[in-house]
Amino acid sequence: MKTAREIVKAIVREIEERVYSSPDNEILRAFEERHREIEKRVLQDFTNGVTRKHVTRIRKIMGNEFMEVLNQGRIGPIIWKGKDRLQRTYQRLALLIELYLHYQKEAQGRAIEAEQLRRIRDELIESQVSHVHEIEVLEDTIDRYRMLLEIVLAPFEEAMKRVMSFLKVKHLEVFLFDDDRFLATEMKTDGQSFLYNQEEEDDYHIPEAVSEVKLHEVKEISLEVPLIIEGQQIGHYRIWRQASGDLDREEWKKDVEWITPVLARIIEANRNRLLARRVYIDDLTQLYNKRKLNEQMGKLFKQFKRGDKELHVAMIDIDRFKHFNDTYGHPVGDEILKRTAAIIKEEIPYAYRYGGEEFAGVFYGYDRKETMEIMERVRRKVEKTPFVIKGQEYRITISAGIARFETYMNSVMDAFDRADQALYASKEDGRNRCTYYDDIKDRLITDVKSLRQEILKLKEQMELVTRENRRLVEQLKRDRSKKGS
Ligand code: GH3
Ligand code: MG
Ligand code: MG
Repeated sequence: MKTAREIVKAIVREIEERVYSSPDNEILRAFEERHREIEKRVLQDFTNGVTRKHVTRIRKIMGNEFMEVLNQGRIGPIIWKGKDRLQRTYQRLALLIELYLHYQKEAQGRAIEAEQLRRIRDELIESQVSHVHEIEVLEDTIDRYRMLLEIVLAPFEEAMKRVMSFLKVKHLEVFLFDDDRFLATEMKTDGQSFLYNQEEEDDYHIPEAVSEVKLHEVKEISLEVPLIIEGQQIGHYRIWRQASGDLDREEWKKDVEWITPVLARIIEANRNRLLARRVYIDDLTQLYNKRKLNEQMGKLFKQFKRGDKELHVAMIDIDRFKHFNDTYGHPVGDEILKRTAAIIKEEIPYAYRYGGEEFAGVFYGYDRKETMEIMERVRRKVEKTPFVIKGQEYRITISAGIARFETYMNSVMDAFDRADQALYASKEDGRNRCTYYDDIKDRLITDVKSLRQEILKLKEQMELVTRENRRLVEQLKRDRSKKGS
């Protein structure tokens, strides 16, 4: 005879099988298709501006107050302007809301079955069976799918953070095959920030492909898992976790197996972005490079021209660095560059390696005083920092030139030229200082004046010489014709 508990188990198993018979991949694919479908529909709705239907829905879900804020353009960390941006925000909101409604409907379908289960449970409890955990398990699973949906919808880095928090790991490293089927590190994280394509400090080596789940255990436990999409391996990832006593390894591996197909898709979907980042990041300093600066300045300059915010740019150059290299060697120089870059990155909102030992800083929405304060802080910090490399202490200083973008400027280069001139003045005045362009403008004008005078003088001299030459030539001709006659 079956016990009541066995009966419950059997029912639960049957329903579970029915609800969750499809493997993760299928659920995902179905979701993606649905997502695309809904996205297409929403986009179509938006071909001629924002439709009433979506406005009503957004208003209903987000409330009137939110709509007001939205229409005034006060969303997000930066006050933004422009109809396009508003339109895009509406679009994204509408898409999210449509997906939300769709998912809600789906979840309701499952909730009914959960409801039936609950009823059966109640009945059975009445017949004195009180330990039925399976229903909670089922609800857990629904929660997991909800989480899955949120992960798929989140922006890349946010999604990665959610995956990591689900797996309870602090470190995650992704290795992807590059075009030559070599494995290359594409992304690393310490749980706070993400580093793309950073090389190992000392013994950099090309990692070997991992084709099966591998478990390593030291003080922490790490797991390496292949990333496979539709039978094709795109790389693998590696995670670490503290190997504490209460860690159930089997449970953890199951979680990993559950989330991996989703992770693979997120990574694949962002592959181009991951690879593109390599083009924009300077290997040595991990700062954005000049290419990134050029592209960002183009956009920022347009924004600046339309808006009412100040835009400043700073050029930074290490003082007497050639001499430093000649004295201590290029490798030490490289290390100094790296650490100087780290200081610059800490203080300046947008920092770039402009080339060699030159850096650029961009300050959008900062006035002269704020910009100069930051720049002075950087300068002082570099000056005061003893850079210790292999037990030896080194010190360097930097010089900077700062210029403001003016609305009458036609090109980004105009401001950069000014910053460069100000930097030159810093060097001329003895280095280890920050110079604001406006403060040396007059000096430059005097320079130009004296230069012009010098040119005039030279011109006069040239004319004298030419006249003298001509006279000599005439003389020569006359002498020759005399001789000839
Ligand atoms: P100044 O104070 O006038 O700037 O003097 P400087 O010697 O720094 O002059 P300049 O800016 O012209 O010299 C740049 C030097 O920076 C040349 C080169 O030795 C060094 N440098 C440029 N790029 C790198 C790099 O990637 N690594 C190292 N170690 N040195 C670099
Ligand atoms: Mg230089
Ligand atoms: Mg220099």
